[in-house]
Formats: sequence, structure tokens, C-alpha cells
Amino acid sequence: MQKYNVNQNGFYGEFGGAYIPEILYDNVENLKHTYRKVLEDPQFQKEYYDLLRDYVGRPSPLYLAKRLSEKYGCKIYLKREDLNHTGAHKINNTIGQILLAQRMGKTRIIAETGAGQHGVATATVCALMNMECIVYMGATDVERQKLNAEKMKMLGAKVVPVTSGNMTLKDATNEAIRDWCSHPSDTYYIIGSTVGPHPYPDMVARLQSVISEEIRKQLLEKEGRENPDYLIACVGGGSNAAGTIYHFLDEPSVNIILAEAAGKGIDSGESAATIHLGKLGIIHGSRTLLMQSEDGQIEEPYSISAGLDYPGIGPMHAHLAQSGRSEVLAVTDDEAIDQAFELTKLEGIIPAIESAHALGVLGKKKFRSEDVVVICLSGRGDKDMETYVNEQKKRK
Ligand SMILES: *Cc1c(COP(=O)(O)O)cnc(C)c1O
Repeated sequence: MQKYNVNQNGFYGEFGGAYIPEILYDNVENLKHTYRKVLEDPQFQKEYYDLLRDYVGRPSPLYLAKRLSEKYGCKIYLKREDLNHTGAHKINNTIGQILLAQRMGKTRIIAETGAGQHGVATATVCALMNMECIVYMGATDVERQKLNAEKMKMLGAKVVPVTSGNMTLKDATNEAIRDWCSHPSDTYYIIGSTVGPHPYPDMVARLQSVISEEIRKQLLEKEGRENPDYLIACVGGGSNAAGTIYHFLDEPSVNIILAEAAGKGIDSGESAATIHLGKLGIIHGSRTLLMQSEDGQIEEPYSISAGLDYPGIGPMHAHLAQSGRSEVLAVTDDEAIDQAFELTKLEGIIPAIESAHALGVLGKKKFRSEDVVVICLSGRGDKDMETYVNEQKKRK
């Protein structure tokens, strides 16, 4: 899989690498030399897959959405990551990384979070493994996402509100990196998406690749073939998308369509459409596309969905888009909201607002009746009820 996968130096084409402060060099080198060995170790795999089965509830179902299929004139399957423990795909990754942290002898876990989903998934596995957990969260986000902040505290994590910058995800990430620099020996940093310095993007993609591993088996059972015609996922940093496409990257017959958040429109100045609007730069340790001003200042992104509201994009996805392996569509707030209501009405499933962006692709493409389309339903909509209620009021 060399063509689309990370190379020896941690690059996907011209994207990726590890641009880190000197003090973290040993840590990141150590991680780089350890992660593959651990992830491929049978003992690790047994513990990881046992927990995925008994604790997370995997395999997640691949559900043939009949009424949705009828509406769009093709065969649509939903990969139900929304049914995982903690309500999204993020737990697949945090389980893997905490097992790795244990094996590396680390005792203190740090993480950053925006909407709080990764923070909750991290606090959850720290409770499970009895590890100290510190989660950095922008003060604005602590306010906006009270329930998740409270969940983390109940799970035993220390939530540190970050008051620098815009007090959102980007600032929380800076603070987490600062913490890591001051405690390099005992601390493990659990990154929540396919972002950050090498080897994180590759490690997170591998830990999420259980999604495509299952899709292959489930499609073979249901359709008599492993490959779908289309795979669709939303991209924030890119982890649910990476997991969904991982085992299909070298299958040219599988079309990959990813949805990024257009916010109020890609030309509105209020968007998080990084692949459409981003330029080459370095963010959080990796060389990738990012939204920046003329003089290279990172621009504050906007999306109705907190999980897609990130000014960068995982280097793997920058490369897949640039090389033409993936097609990236920008889906607006309004389109995503429409899709969330539609899925709820047609299938009785309230999706996360992030996942509703993936559903937004359905209205933008023409499918043939025999096409098999798999959409990653990355999370459930409980956390977004306030948004949905407000939008419903606005529309009346
Ligand atoms: C965090 C999140 C995302 C975005 O993160 P990726 O790393 O791009 O997958 C998407 N959907 C849900 C439900 C999330 O919680």
C-alpha cells in the first residue's frame, strides 16, 4: 500500500513529517520505533480486539438503509459507528493508544478536545485502565459543550480550560503540546485524529482501520463482494474517513468521496473547508493544507459541527485529494442539517451533525441503481440535540 500510505520518513507525498520542538524529539522517535511493533504484537491485538468486542460493542453493524436507498436510487449501507460505546468512532483509537501507552511504561495521559468527544473517549479508557488523565479544552468549548466536560470530570479526568487565543481546539492543542514538553518522560499524548507529527496520523489510521476491515467482511456476506462502488465519510482531521477507506485504498474500482464542512459556504469567509481553501503550511507538527491568511497566520475555521471545525487536515487526506484518489465535496451547515432531519425521518436514526455532512454527499452525486454505497455514520446525534432543536425552530 506504499502508494497512498505513509513512507519511511512519515510523509504522504509532500504532506506529513514530524515538525516538533527539540525537547520532544526523543519521545516522538521512541514512539516511531515502537508503535508498529506493538500494534502488530499478537498479545496487543488480542487485548485490543477483545476490548473492541466486549467493551466497545464491535463489530458495528453494516445496515442496509432501505428507505434512504429508495430515495437516492442505489443501495445504501450505513456503517454504524454511532452504536459504539461513547457514541462515535473515537473510542477505537483511544483504546489502542492507551494499550500502547501502558506498554511504553507511561503513567500520565494527556489529550486535547474541541467538542469534547475525543476528551470523553480518552477519559473513558483512562477510567478503564486506572490512568491519570488531563484533558485540555478551550474555555469557549467548555462553556459550549458543558455536558461533555461534566462527563469527563465524572470519569475522573482533570479538565483544564484553556484561555489563550480564541479559546477553542487549536489553543487547547497548543496547551497539550506545551504540557508534553514539560513532562516528556512519564506522559503519553493521545491524539484524537489522523493529525499531528508522524507517527500519529499513521497510527490513528491503523487503529481506525478496523472499520474497513469489518466493512469488507460484512459486504462479502451481504453482497457477495468485498468492494463497494462508493465509500463516503466526513473529514475533520480525517480519522473516521481514514478508517473507512483504509483497506480499499489500492482498489481502484472503489470510489472515495469525502465531505468537509463548508460552514456557511466556501466563499463566505465562515467555513472549515480546508482541502478547498487551505494552503501548504505546518500545523501541530505536520506539513499539510491549512487555512491561513496571506501572511501565514492560521485562520479561525467555522462549522456548525464542532467535530469538523479544525483549520488543518490530516496529511493522508491532503495527499489523497491532491493525487485524485479521493474526491472531496464541501457540504454546508444547512445541507447537513437537512440530511440529519431526513435520515431521522426515513430511518429513525438521529446522526451526529458531523456524520450528517457525509450524508450531504448523497444529494450531490448521481448513482446507478446497482451501485453499492457505504456511508460511515461516525456518531450519534445526542450531543447535537440543542443544535437540531434551534434549527427546527428557525425553519418554522
Ligand atoms: C470527532 C468526530 C468527527 C471528526 O473527526 P475525524 O477525525 O475527521 O473523524 C466526525 N464525526 C464524529 C461523530 C466525531 O465525534
